[in-house]
Amino acid sequence: MSDKTPPSLPGCDELNPTALQVEQARSKILASINPSGDIEQLAIREALNRVLADTIKSTIDVPSYTNSAMDGYAISGADIPTTDTKRLTVIGTVMAGKPLDIQVFEGECIRIMTGGKMPAGTDTVIMQEHVQRDNTENSICISPGHHLGQNVRQAGEDLSKNDVIFQPGKRLTPADIGMLASMGIAEVSVSKRIKVIFFSTGDELCDVGQRLKDGQIYDSNRYTLYGMLRRLDVDFIDMGVIPDQRECVTDAFQRATMEADVLITTGGVSVGEADFVKETLEKLGHVGFWKIAMKPGRPLAFGRIGDCQFFGLPGNPVSAMVTFYQFVQPALLHMMGIKDVTPQYLHLRSETTLKKRAGRLEFQRGIISNANGETMVRSTGAQGSGILSSMGEANCFIELPAEIEKVEAGEWVKVQPFSGMI
Ligand code: AMP
Ligand code: MG
Repeated sequence: MSDKTPPSLPGCDELNPTALQVEQARSKILASINPSGDIEQLAIREALNRVLADTIKSTIDVPSYTNSAMDGYAISGADIPTTDTKRLTVIGTVMAGKPLDIQVFEGECIRIMTGGKMPAGTDTVIMQEHVQRDNTENSICISPGHHLGQNVRQAGEDLSKNDVIFQPGKRLTPADIGMLASMGIAEVSVSKRIKVIFFSTGDELCDVGQRLKDGQIYDSNRYTLYGMLRRLDVDFIDMGVIPDQRECVTDAFQRATMEADVLITTGGVSVGEADFVKETLEKLGHVGFWKIAMKPGRPLAFGRIGDCQFFGLPGNPVSAMVTFYQFVQPALLHMMGIKDVTPQYLHLRSETTLKKRAGRLEFQRGIISNANGETMVRSTGAQGSGILSSMGEANCFIELPAEIEKVEAGEWVKVQPFSGMI
């Protein structure tokens, strides 16, 4: 936007008093959807990215026995000298997985390897680099300055027996399935995958692999949707492009809603669209056409058709992605049983001046990067709702409040990083 742009006078577009705020719309959606509640038992590897249905308590201490964190010598803390060096006799060796049933008395020590079980009478490990070993005498000399309990991992210091480790609603990460393994848990109950079906509407849409005719564009929304849904780890069916014809639309909605828990469509929800999309939805279910005070992505159809949750996203490629991330993704996560599904934010300073019209909350596409040692954010440039390359370049949304018209370089802004969106 150049500086010659006339002062932004909010048009009726910007000041629609009936428009829903983004937060309001998200809350309304979440309040009207229940978690699916269907569960299945899976091996922990298969459970990666899935949502726990049960509380997990540890039945053991992890680690299950007190062990050495270093290769060195296990001694009693009482043998740490305070002034002079002290000589200790080495009476045995403990390797990881090969405990010794032995009692260590004053003046004695045990050669021990990392992970080896601490023998009775020891509570401290001296690193091997910090002792003088005398092989002929089979003894070591240690100097003052060590601390009682050093280099020892206590039984249960990671996870304690009977502690609640995970609550239901936890989405399992690589670390989580590792923790389950460390407690010896082989299988867990998780929410079943949600089944999502989607199609595009529009007579201008051509599928990849076909020759583009005059007045046509390739359908990109089914591919961005595919990508976003795949990352969420749901089951999905792509129904292709549905032409703007009454029978085709009716038939597509009927088939889709019988097959899946959620139907997502793109296109055909703006004012002036072929009336039969609206007409069909009104006939088949309870669907509202919402104006949301946001940019891009204002028109959104939301409701139910039979037992199927319906989201009608705008056709513009950026609008479809923005509305998916702001509304559909939280709804799907909620259906999976995840508790906190609202987006996560960072507060960063803007590298560039950002402009907008007052009136609607804007999700501008931004790039978080390191600028002179500070993590800052800048705009990707042109922000039109058809400029999908702005999403490709971006790694975050810069969320600009409705009332502001300008952010000066150096001012703080609220940022939704994309990496937090899976
Ligand atoms: P609509 O919401 O159907 O009015 O579409 C708004 C704009 O988005 C129009 O320029 C459409 O051509 C474009 N559009 C709609 N669907 C798609 C799609 N699946 N892929 C790419 N562009 C689309
Ligand atoms: Mg259309």
